[in-house]
Formats: sequence, structure tokens, C-alpha cells
Amino acid sequence: MPTNPTTGRRPRVVIIGSGFGGLFAAQRLRKADVDITLVAKTGHHLFQPLLYQVATGIISEGEIAPPTRDILKKQQNATVILGEVVDIDLADKTVTSWLLGRETVHEYDHLIVAAGAGQSYFGNSQFSQFAPGMKSVDDALELRGRILGAFEMAEAATDPAEIDRLLTFVVVGAGPTGVEMAGQIAELARRTLKRNFRNIDPKSARVILLDAAPVVLPPFAEKLQKNAAEQLRGIGVEIQLGAMVTGLDANGLDIKDTGDGTTRRITAATKIWAAGVQASPLGALLAQQCDVQVDRAGRVEVQPDLTLPGHPEVFVVGDMMSLDKLPGVAQVAIQGGRFAADRIAATVAGKSHKEKFEYFDKGSMATISRYKAVADLGKIKVTGFLAWAMWLLVHLVYIVGFKSRLTTTFSWVVSFLGKGRAQRVATQQQVYGRLALEKLGPDFEVAQSGGLHGSAADPVRIDAPADRTVA
Ligand SMILES: Cc1cc2nc3c(=O)[nH]c(=O)nc-3n(C[C@H](O)[C@H](O)[C@H](O)COP(=O)(O)OP(=O)(O)OC[C@H]3O[C@@H](n4cnc5c(N)ncnc54)[C@H](O)[C@@H]3O)c2cc1C
Repeated sequence: MPTNPTTGRRPRVVIIGSGFGGLFAAQRLRKADVDITLVAKTGHHLFQPLLYQVATGIISEGEIAPPTRDILKKQQNATVILGEVVDIDLADKTVTSWLLGRETVHEYDHLIVAAGAGQSYFGNSQFSQFAPGMKSVDDALELRGRILGAFEMAEAATDPAEIDRLLTFVVVGAGPTGVEMAGQIAELARRTLKRNFRNIDPKSARVILLDAAPVVLPPFAEKLQKNAAEQLRGIGVEIQLGAMVTGLDANGLDIKDTGDGTTRRITAATKIWAAGVQASPLGALLAQQCDVQVDRAGRVEVQPDLTLPGHPEVFVVGDMMSLDKLPGVAQVAIQGGRFAADRIAATVAGKSHKEKFEYFDKGSMATISRYKAVADLGKIKVTGFLAWAMWLLVHLVYIVGFKSRLTTTFSWVVSFLGKGRAQRVATQQQVYGRLALEKLGPDFEVAQSGGLHGSAADPVRIDAPADRTVA
């Protein structure tokens, strides 16, 4: 679709999300003859795979969350808009976003939806109060506050049972995120916090990794699953498999054994939820409008070219899409975002392009702790230090921006060669902020929108043609 001779306007591409799918799509379109609007509810591009390092004080949040508008500042055809998308109208070809009471309507000729996924508590959303997930910078900082705070409270406590409760950390979900988190809490307790306390021995902290599944790292090869479990046990992580969480409160978790059905309780102050994902609700919104299904995780079933049926102009990529059982990993989002961008660029230029999205699996990795990891590269399986060195390199390559790479490398040197962790700040806002806001409920939304939420908030229509009225 060349420049419209009537309006003199170039084709408009709206991208929802500044994660791996959205950002890499925008960058791929840098030479295309289009105008891009990237709308995201966060002003940064978050490198989620390193959130656990923010939560455990190795790196700062800024190192893995560079500002999106800074990343795209030299890309003249891209505009970044901060706002939460609250509506997509496929018939009208508009996306509506919301920021502090201001509604903006973006018109598009091509749309890439890459809004990712949030945490799923499998129908038990009440667990979230006591067991934060790890999907955002807020989550990681809250967890850091809770983890470090538990050691502080244990130092001040006198009752041995209470000290045990405070020094028990339970990570629910033994996928890569859970494994990495459990490994790092163990290392924090045994290495970093050594000699920091007078009344407690942080080394005595109990770190439990549990999962209803019978293995750790379910998507990995059996050999690596066993090796990962061995490495975890070697650094003091207790692994409980076939353990389903049936209840969770401030003081602990109720567990049902999936084998014999017996129940038990683990007393623990700090619980971390790394067990499931739920795609952005924008997926269901799209599905309703074009008669497609969403799967159990709320992901939209897309066509082989990542578009919606009857809407060749709308792509859904990354954690939000369901296609050929592809996993929710960064490479699927990056490759999907680039594929969508290439197709749009080809359409605009009147050229042909590949009909189907073909995913190239580059393998999977998970770190256990310092110098320990597993890497599944198809036929090649690597463990221990070599896997860890490969993990380090790959993550450095994919961290966006030279400055972030440099500072992350420095933080890793401090933590991995030395014993220290530079980011041990924990504030009250980190620990209590989320729950306080949740308690405020609708009152907070009114305050947030300056009292305009839901009323005539002077909506703006971006690129609205002269003959259309402001919505
Ligand atoms: C803790 C953790 C560890 C991980 N580790 C690995 C790993 O080691 N290797 C790996 O390959 N993958 C890993 N993943 C998965 C990987 O990060 C995701 O698959 C990838 O981020 C998906 O990219 P995406 O673009 O689909 O979504 P995301 O990266 O989640 O981006 C979604 C974007 O959409 C925005 N957004 C959401 N809703 C709205 C809305 N309504 N309006 C506007 N904007 C919106 C968000 O602000 C964000 O910018 C990990 C994930 C987590 C959470």
C-alpha cells in the first residue's frame, strides 16, 4: 500500500507492546515506507529473562529496562506512545489507549498486537496477595523487598518457630524462572549474606522449589532435567515434585501430593509464584471480533502467517499467539515480530513474502546459580560451567543497548567473581505498594485519572481525517 494520493499519508502501522515482539517488529520496519506508532503501557523494553536477578539484588531494574523512546530515537518513522490499550476495533481499524484519564484513538492500516502475558494462578487469584509473580519491574522489586525483608525480620525475631517461618522461601513452579529464582535465593543466603547478621545464620535458610509436575524444567531433555535437579540440590535447594498447591496464605502453603493424594502444610513467610501464564485480555477481545478461539492460557489461535482470519492486516505475535504449540519464549516473539514486520514492508512495497511463519528453535537454557547452568541445543546438551558461560554470552547479546550491556557486565563481575550484590535496596513502597493500591481499588483509578476516568476525558484521535469526528 503506497502513500495515499488523497491524504498524502504513508501507511500507518500500530504496534501494541514494547516487549520482544513489539520492539523487534518496530526496529525491523526502520527502512519501510510507513509511519509506526508503538503503544505500550510501560515506557521501557523489559528483558524479562533477567527479572530474577533484579529480585535477588544482582542487577538494577534500569539495566534490563531501557526506555523504548530512547531505543527508537534515531528511527524517524517511529513514534512511541505511553498508554494502556483498552480497545481494538477490527472493523473500524482503530486502537484505543488510555493514559491518566486521556483516551487516544489510533487509526491503523496494519496492526501488530504483541501485548504478552501476565501471571496465572489457575483460578486462585487470591494467592497473588501472598505469592507475587514475576512479570514486571514492580514484581521483581516487590520480591526483592520481601526476600531481604524476611532475613531482617528473622534477625529481630526471638521465637525459633517464627525464625524458621521467616527463613523458609518457597518457589512455586519448577520451569526455568522457578529454577533460576530458587538457585539465586540459595546463593544469596549462603554466599552474599554471609556474616551480615548477628542473631541468625542466613545459611540455615530453607529454599524449597516445588511443582505439581514430576520433573524440574519440563521442556528440557531428561538428562538435563536430572542434571539441573542435582545441581540445585548441590547448592542446598530442596526439590518437592508432584506437589500441588491447594491453599496459600500469609503463613504458608497447603500441598496435595499428586501421587497418593496426601496433604500437608509448609510454613513459610516468603512465597514466589512462577507457575503459569495468562495471555493479555486483548487476545479475547480480538477473538470475539473475528470468530477465532483462545486456548486455556488465553492465547489467540492465529493463521500460519500470524494474522487473524479475514484480517490480513492484523498480526498477533509472541506470548499472545497460539500456533503449532510454540512455547512462550523470547525467540518466538522476536522471530514472530520480525516476520510480521517483513510481511507489512513487503505488502507496502508491493512485493511478495513468505506465506508461513517458520520458527527456528535456537535451543533453551536455564541457569542454576553462579557457574552452573543447563543448555539444550537440540542434539547438543551442555551442563555446568560451559552452559553457564554460553548463557552469559547469549543474554548479553540480547540485552538491548550498549550501556545496558556494559553495566550488566559490571554487575555480573561484582556478583559472580566477588560475593557482593550491588542492588540490595528495599523500600516500603516496593513491599507494600501493590497491595495498598489494590486495596484502594476504584478510588485509586479515579485518583490516577485525575477524576476523569469514565467521563468526557477529551479523547484525541491520532491522524483523524478531517471528515471524522473525535470519538
Ligand atoms: C521471569 C521470566 C523469565 C523468562 N525467561 C526466559 C528465558 O530465559 N528465555 C526465553 O526465551 N524466554 C523467557 N521468558 C519469556 C519471554 O520473556 C517472553 O516469551 C517474551 O517476553 C514474550 O514477548 P512478547 O513481546 O510477546 O511479550 P512481552 O515481552 O511480555 O511484552 C509485552 C508488552 O506489551 C505491553 N502491554 C501489555 N498489555 C498492554 C496493553 N493493554 N496496552 C499496551 N501495552 C500493553 C507491555 O507493557 C509490554 O511492553 C521469561 C519470562 C519471564 C516472565
